[in-house]
Amino acid sequence: MTVTQPRQLDMVIGGELFGALSGDRFDVVNPATLRVCASVPFGTEQDVDRAVAAATRALPAWRAAPATQRGELIAALARLLEARADEFAAAETAHNGKTLADARFDVDSTVACLDYCAGTANKAYGQTIPAHDGYLVYTLREPVGVCGLIVPWNFPLAIAVWKLGPALAAGNTVIIKPASETPLTALMLGALADQAGFPPGVINVVTGPGSRAGHRLVTHPDVAKVSLTGETSTGQTIMREAAATLKRVTLELGGKSPALVFADADLDLAVDGSLFQIFANAGQVCDARSRIFVQDAVYDEFVSRFAERAGRLRVGDPTDPASHIGAITSARQLEKIRQYVEIGQHEGAKLVCGGTIAGELAAGGPGLFHRPTVFADVDNSMRIAREEIFGPVACLGRFSDYDDGIGKANDTPYGLAATVWTTDLSTAHRAAAEIRAGGVWVNTSEFLFNEAPFGGVKASGYGRELSMHGLDAYTEVKNVGIRLAGPMPSFEL
Ligand code: NAD
Repeated sequence: MTVTQPRQLDMVIGGELFGALSGDRFDVVNPATLRVCASVPFGTEQDVDRAVAAATRALPAWRAAPATQRGELIAALARLLEARADEFAAAETAHNGKTLADARFDVDSTVACLDYCAGTANKAYGQTIPAHDGYLVYTLREPVGVCGLIVPWNFPLAIAVWKLGPALAAGNTVIIKPASETPLTALMLGALADQAGFPPGVINVVTGPGSRAGHRLVTHPDVAKVSLTGETSTGQTIMREAAATLKRVTLELGGKSPALVFADADLDLAVDGSLFQIFANAGQVCDARSRIFVQDAVYDEFVSRFAERAGRLRVGDPTDPASHIGAITSARQLEKIRQYVEIGQHEGAKLVCGGTIAGELAAGGPGLFHRPTVFADVDNSMRIAREEIFGPVACLGRFSDYDDGIGKANDTPYGLAATVWTTDLSTAHRAAAEIRAGGVWVNTSEFLFNEAPFGGVKASGYGRELSMHGLDAYTEVKNVGIRLAGPMPSFEL
């Protein structure tokens, strides 16, 4: 099923569908066809205020609801999403440009994420603490309050739910603000909240520009926490602006993640895994392994195999099952990629595959496409190796020995993820420990597990999503101390 007719979607506030108070709307464009696929409200400060008021009203009853019941409602939302998986995948492809196969994978993993979160709702355990004789000391996990969930355009549904699931499980109420390029699936999900049984105001979705709707969420005095996934510079702005109201913040930011291919690696595996890690989702992946360092002894062979296989990847109509790579999500992003390809050539990197936009491959229109592009002989000091391109551009460079490899992997402002390709167990464990990143994968293209934490260090942000760490991020710890029979500090009078 594909979304062919422009649709009009509305915001979800307090259990009802609303346009913006101003009445303004904006178009959502399908990047593969450049045709308008939907129109959504142009929400601003006053719409956020309305949503925050609804979330604030809903908070006392929701945080007091039995945890098992909260989990049941999250599971009910999972079932509704599961039943509409085709429709959600089609919408995800329409606004984002990713292949339908990728979109379907995202929807399925989002259903699994909701199910995981449903199971965590009654597992926000506290501790009993043997602090002092005669005292019972224990902790309670409590919700943070009203949470603003600010979402990027590369995984619009999945990342919204990475935040939504644990926030609801812990007893918070939320306002989701999707990216303006890709607001459809968050609005569609929000519209299912009522049917799943959520009380009005627990799940709100507001669309609008980051500089207005997003900014208001970050500065609103009644919002207790903001979780952003976005660019590092956006994270810096949000952290500054959240300081005035001392909001809790979780920041999942950009990356320039490395892969290290050791000479003893299974080269077939390393080539195919590395191709996937940089070209899946057209390279618009925060933890794309965009810097691939290969040990001298196998460097030439790796480069020639990698470039040959990259050249065989099919770029085109995301709804065509034969396409490996769909469209770039926005014209601004395509232009950024084009400029970085030019920069790489000026910097002296060797272009061994691609390098051009591929508009002629679009189905039924001009479309925003870019060929998989491979630079070899990239020096780690070049801008293409230091700055996040966020597109299908692989930078291949060499390393001599273990220390040189680890040094190059860590020589970056970012620290989101890394991959190590080796058949030597001690190399694998040493590298996993010594690479500064939120996650290290060995001998595999990445697989994200709902059960395992995800997040970054350094300029890639802080805080973790998914797993029980994701739940922790939406709770406050309260300490309770009860004197049973022990001493009590007091004045001597
Ligand atoms: P972006 O920073 O431009 O926008 C992200 C969201 O923030 C959008 O909803 C936007 O409207 C909002 N926003 C922008 N300015 C704001 C402000 N001043 N106040 C409040 N909200 C504001 O990012 P993007 O272009 O949508 O996404 C791509 C970026 O996201 C890349 O840098 C990528 O690496 C990063 N990303 C990180 C992860 C991760 O888990 N670490 C995952 C996916 C994407």
